[in-house]
Amino acid sequence: MSDHPREECGVFGVIAPGRDVARLSFFGLHALQHRGQESAGIAVSDGTHVVVQRELGLVSSVFDEPSLRSLTGDSAIGHVRYSTTGRNKWDNAQPVAMPRGEGLVALGHNGNLTNSDALRRRVMDMGHEIEATTDSALVTALISHEPGSLLDAICNVMPTLQGAYSIVALTEDELVAFRDPNGVRPLVIGRLDGGWVVASETCALDQVGAEFDREVRPGEAVRLTTDGIESRQVMPATSRALCIFEAIYFARPDSVMDGQSVWQARHDMGIELARESTPGADLVVGLPDSGTPAAIGFAQKSGIPYSEAVVRNRYVGRSFIQPDQELRATGVKLKFNPLEGVIGGKRLVVVDDSIVRGTTTRRIVQMLKDAGAAEVHLRISSPPITWPCFYGIDMADRDELIAVGHTADEVAAALGADSLHYLTLDGLQRAVGQPADVYCRACFTGRYPIPVPDTPGKERFEAAAGATPSR
Ligand code: SF4
Repeated sequence: MSDHPREECGVFGVIAPGRDVARLSFFGLHALQHRGQESAGIAVSDGTHVVVQRELGLVSSVFDEPSLRSLTGDSAIGHVRYSTTGRNKWDNAQPVAMPRGEGLVALGHNGNLTNSDALRRRVMDMGHEIEATTDSALVTALISHEPGSLLDAICNVMPTLQGAYSIVALTEDELVAFRDPNGVRPLVIGRLDGGWVVASETCALDQVGAEFDREVRPGEAVRLTTDGIESRQVMPATSRALCIFEAIYFARPDSVMDGQSVWQARHDMGIELARESTPGADLVVGLPDSGTPAAIGFAQKSGIPYSEAVVRNRYVGRSFIQPDQELRATGVKLKFNPLEGVIGGKRLVVVDDSIVRGTTTRRIVQMLKDAGAAEVHLRISSPPITWPCFYGIDMADRDELIAVGHTADEVAAALGADSLHYLTLDGLQRAVGQPADVYCRACFTGRYPIPVPDTPGKERFEAAAGATPSR
C-alpha cells in the first residue's frame, strides 16, 4: 500500500582495524533500511580474503549474531537493495563479487546507468558471462578486467559509465567509494574513532558513531585508508544534479544533505504549501511518516491545528501476506487505521509528499471519509510527477502517472478529494534553499540532466508511449 516512488538502494563502507567492521556495517545498513528492503549484504576483508554474505530480505533477517561473528576483518562494504533494475532474485543481491587477479572485488551500487546496453556489449566482448541482470554486475566486471590498484582500475572505468552512481568497492587491500560527475545520488564520508566510514546518508554515520567529514564530490573517487582519504577527481564535476526527491521523500528526515536538514526542508515545504493554498479547514493531518514534517509546517503557517488522524502499522513489510477475500470484505486496513474520534465531522487538510499512480491516495481519502471526515483537502509537498526516472527510482510508467494529462482539479475528482494543490517548483526550490540548477528535477519537468537511454531496456519504461524526454 504505497503511492510513492519506490526507493533505490543504500551503500555503506568502513575501514577500522581492530573494530568489528561487520557489526558496524550491519548497524549502518540498518539506518539505511528505508532505501531498500528486498535484499541486504556485507562484504568483509581481513587483508587476505574478501568474504561476502548477501541474501533476500531485511538487514535484520539476513544477519544474525553467528553470521556477523564469522565476518571478521579490517574493512567492509554493505548494501541494501530495492530492485529498480533486474528482478528481485538472489543473483542480483549485493555486494556483487567477482574474481580480480588473485583475489576478489566486491561492489555495492546506488543509482542506475543509462548506457548499460553498450557496457553489456563491452563486457561480453571481454568474454565475460553476466548472469546477474544489474548494472552493478557490469561495473564489477569492467573493474575486474582492469590491472593495477583498485583505485587505478576505478579511475579507468569511471569515464565509460553514464548515468547515476554512488558506489562502494572492496578488495583484499583497498576500499574505494566513487560518485558520478552529476552527483545524482548522495554519498558522504565520516570520521570514526580509528577509521573512516562512507555511506549514502548521514543518518548511517550517526548510527555508528561517526562524525560527518564531507561529501564524496561529484566525479570523485576516494580510497579510504587508516592514514586518511586519498582523493582523485577522476571526472570534472559537470552540472550538479542531486535528486530533489531525496529531500522530498527518499532520505531519512534525520539526515543532512548538502548542508540542510532533510526534516527542515520537508517542514519548509509545508510552509510553502500553506502559503500557496490554504483551504478553510479544522485540522491539518499528515500521512505518517513521510507527510508529517510538511504537515507540521503547514499547520504552523496556516494557523490550523495539527493532529494525528491515522495510525500506521510500522511492521507491514514488502513481503506482507495479503488478506484473503473474506478479510478484505470486512475492510481490513493493513497499513493505516483512522482515529474516528479525531476525524469525525472535521474538514481535513491532508498533507502527503507525492502521488504516483493515485491508487493508494484514493483509498486513503475514502478511508477518511468513511471515518466521518466532512471534507478532505489534499496538499502535496511536491509538484505533479509527469515523467519517469532513469536514474535509479521506480516511478511507474508514464501512462500510469495520474498527473499526466490531468489538472489538479481533475486529479482531485478522480481521488474523491474536495480539493488538491501540488507545491509549485518555485515553492519547492524555496524550501530546499538552493538554486534550481543544483538539482535533478526531471520527473517534474522532463528535462533530464544526463542523456537517457534511446531504447530503455527496463520493463518499467516500455509503456512510456508518447513520452519524448528532452536529452
Ligand atoms: S528524475 Fe526525479 S526521482 Fe529521478 S533522479 Fe531526477 S529528481 Fe530524482
